[in-house]
Amino acid sequence: MAKKISLEDRLFLVQRNFGKKSHITIDQEAFRKDPVKPILFICPARVFLLNESSGECVINHENCLECGTCQVASRYVKWTNPSSGFGVTYKYS
Ligand code: SF4
Repeated sequence: MAKKISLEDRLFLVQRNFGKKSHITIDQEAFRKDPVKPILFICPARVFLLNESSGECVINHENCLECGTCQVASRYVKWTNPSSGFGVTYKYS
C-alpha cells in the first residue's frame, strides 16, 4: 500500500517565492454572498480559508501552485501572474 503524503509534505516539493505582495485578490462581498464557495474546496494547495468569525476569505497566497483552477471556478477571484522573479519552481520536473 502506498504511503499517504500530507499536503504540507507535497507542498515542500515545490519551491515558492511570492514575496509579501499577494498576486491573488478576492471580492469579499461576492464571496460572502456565494452559498457554495467552491474556492474553499477546489484549490489543491488550500490557499483559500474561511474565517468563521468574520465570514471573509483568508488568502494564503504563498502556498499557490499557479494551477489556475480558481480562475475557472470563481468569478470573484482575481489571479495574476506573480511579478518577474517570483512564483513557483518545481524541484523534480
Ligand atoms: S492558482 Fe491553483 S493553487 Fe493557486 S490559488 Fe488558484 S487554485 Fe489555488
